[in-house]
Amino acid sequence: LFITFEGGDGSGKTTQAELLDAWLRERGETTLRSREPGGTEVGEQLREIVLHHRGEISSRAEALLYAADRAQHIDTKIRPALERGEIVLQDRYIDSSLAYQGAGRALGVDEVRALSVWASGDLWPNLTILLDLDPDSARERLDSARTRFDRLEAEKSAFHGRVRTVFLELAAAEPERFLVLDATLSIEDLATRIRERVSALLAA
Ligand code: C5P
Ligand code: MG
Repeated sequence: LFITFEGGDGSGKTTQAELLDAWLRERGETTLRSREPGGTEVGEQLREIVLHHRGEISSRAEALLYAADRAQHIDTKIRPALERGEIVLQDRYIDSSLAYQGAGRALGVDEVRALSVWASGDLWPNLTILLDLDPDSARERLDSARTRFDRLEAEKSAFHGRVRTVFLELAAAEPERFLVLDATLSIEDLATRIRERVSALLAA
């Protein structure tokens, strides 16, 4: 079972992935929790480049670095874990590329999908939890909680608006794969709804 968490920065993906992970382990499941970019040694190096590079990076170069990270991650960690029957919980995946590089960087969602399908060997999640949050609320959350918004300071709020719109469009196009939740709900409410959906998947 492959479950991904998507949504803008500050939407609570990491918190919900941790809670679901703990709940699954209590039930005796074996899980692998991972994140993108990163999640492998090479991937963490690529994450460092893509998130903290010096100088300008072209949009196409950025998309290819995410694709390289994904290929390494899928080939060396995710596919083997799925083949062992583990439940993989991942913070960000292809939908992030479609939203950030495809729409945010305006490379085109279909072009980035083609690249992502190749990089992942056409591996799609069974369930994608989209934590939907408007970019202004996200900014407030991050300003109070962490500092990682720095890099994004330069990016216009239009960018984050495009990202959010595409996430919602992707979810509308594939309602069986997506669970869309209002990220302003409480942590407990969100966790409960996610557990309900995952329970149903496990029972199926
Ligand atoms: O929240 P997380 O640690 O996943 O953030 C990673 C950063 O990488 C985010 O700020 C997001 O804007 C960016 N990102 C991106 N394109 C992706 C995945 C992440 O721009 N495909
Ligand atoms: Mg996070």
